[in-house]
Amino acid sequence: MNVFRIDSFRNRLLILFAGMSFMFGLCITLYIGKTASAQMNQTSGQTLYIAAKSISNTLANSLTEREREMVLLSQSPFFAEADFHNPRVQQQLEQVKKSYKYYAWLGIANTQGQVVVAANHLLEGADVSERPWFIHGVNQVYLGDVHKAVLLAKKIKAINPNEPLRFIDFATPIYDPSTQKIKGVLAAHADWSWASHVLSSSLSENSAQRGIEVFIVNQHGEILYPFKSIGQVQPPVFQANRGHSFLHNWNEKQQYLTTDVPVLSQTKSNLGWHVIIRQPISIALAEVKSLQHKILALGFILSLLLLLLTYKLANKFSRPIELLADSAHAVEKGQEDIQFEAQTSIREIQGLSQSLQSMTDTLLTQKHQLQDANATLEQKVAERTHELQVANVELAHIARYDALTGLHNRRAFNDYLSYLFTQMSRTQQTYAVLLMDIDFFKKVNDTFGHEKGDQVLQRVAEILPTALRITDFVARLGGEEFIALLPVTSLDGAAILAEKIRSTIEQEQIIVDHRISLSIGVSVVQLDDTDMNGAIRRADKNLYMAKQQGRNRVIS
Ligand code: GH3
Ligand code: MG
Ligand code: MG
Repeated sequence: MNVFRIDSFRNRLLILFAGMSFMFGLCITLYIGKTASAQMNQTSGQTLYIAAKSISNTLANSLTEREREMVLLSQSPFFAEADFHNPRVQQQLEQVKKSYKYYAWLGIANTQGQVVVAANHLLEGADVSERPWFIHGVNQVYLGDVHKAVLLAKKIKAINPNEPLRFIDFATPIYDPSTQKIKGVLAAHADWSWASHVLSSSLSENSAQRGIEVFIVNQHGEILYPFKSIGQVQPPVFQANRGHSFLHNWNEKQQYLTTDVPVLSQTKSNLGWHVIIRQPISIALAEVKSLQHKILALGFILSLLLLLLTYKLANKFSRPIELLADSAHAVEKGQEDIQFEAQTSIREIQGLSQSLQSMTDTLLTQKHQLQDANATLEQKVAERTHELQVANVELAHIARYDALTGLHNRRAFNDYLSYLFTQMSRTQQTYAVLLMDIDFFKKVNDTFGHEKGDQVLQRVAEILPTALRITDFVARLGGEEFIALLPVTSLDGAAILAEKIRSTIEQEQIIVDHRISLSIGVSVVQLDDTDMNGAIRRADKNLYMAKQQGRNRVIS
């Protein structure tokens, strides 16, 4: 089974490469993600700022424009010189009011603060001496901040019926050109719904969908626009060093990407307005999030590709070593026709492969030499063992047989005698002994040579067994002396047998024209013999007597 083993070269390579590629992919993804997020954050903030700047400029320009219009009108020779009751003054005011949709009221008050002429004759005769625009407008060009006007509100129709009427006041003194004395105050009330017009023309259509909200606040930070947010929303206090955009929670639960731009009009006095735009950070950064997701997905795919690549690489690096290891295993298991093939261009592994090959070749050669040497050694041991066995057999034979005649020797005779003597004490079965000696054998040697003597001994040795029974035992005791042990044989039986031997030898022509004879001493073992040589001694005594009595005879 193919278990994933941590101690495998291939798997370690794989883990190393995969870890490295994963870290690499992660770092790249994080880096790109972070950079792109920062970039997009900045871009979102910048977008809000540009929108606020544009609205602010439009507001400022419009304010500047209105004020300039009023100043120009007040300084026109017609206004400066004319009597305010002249109907053409009233016509002129009508014309100007018509020229600009948001002029709700346009009129002139005399120096006592009484409206003398107005477009549509609105509020003519009314006392405005307590109104700020009159109080200030007597002295200089005046711009009044947004306010409600109850008196006027009853007389005119609002442009936006959903909101209470509010106005901005413009006022400027009218001087008599000849005396340079003030003769009245020209004033205009502009409908504040003008602001929503400026905003709607400055904002793109989908800004509401994108959660973008625009606020206009006065110099005290109170909301002027939109009406519905007054008292509901708490704008952040202006701080000059905050940059184009910043994050703020507006005392709400979520963070807003916020921009705050002052409205810098070219008017005589500045109202100190600010355009503030906010967008929930979740929406503002939604694109960043989506970008991050895309980058993450891309990073993931990149990591997978890298992993695939590293798998291939790990294979490429480990495969040749695995092949070498397999070959080495095969050699270990006894396979001999192994070729170590590196199948790689890596120089070190090629070197290793060659070294393994030559090492294996050397080892195999030595192994074969050793096997051959072993085989030869075993063969030699077998041969030597066989020779030793043969030699042992020969030795055993030599130890028990006489070399010249092939008869049993004295040692074999002694063993057999001892056996018979021991048996006798158990079975009470006696045996007879024939002790035989060739007569005048010295003379044979002397006359015919030692070699001829040997031949005589061999011939006698041939004849003796033929004269005896198969159960009888015959041995050469030494020189020209032989002995026979005859189991279960009486003294008479033994004497008869001895006589038969003696006569056979006498009649045999062993040497031409030279008689060879035997003298034989016969005895029988006695049950009361104390040692096994008793019977031998008795036979020897009889042999001696046979020699004494003239040789070639049997004495028992
Ligand atoms: P006797 O009749 O009294 O037995 O006389 P003999 O000559 O046979 O006995 P003696 O003991 O005097 O001599 C034995 C001789 O046998 C002496 C020796 O040289 C000879 N002889 C002993 N062993 C061998 C042998 O293996 N080969 C030969 N050719 N001669 C041997
Ligand atoms: Mg002798
Ligand atoms: Mg002799």
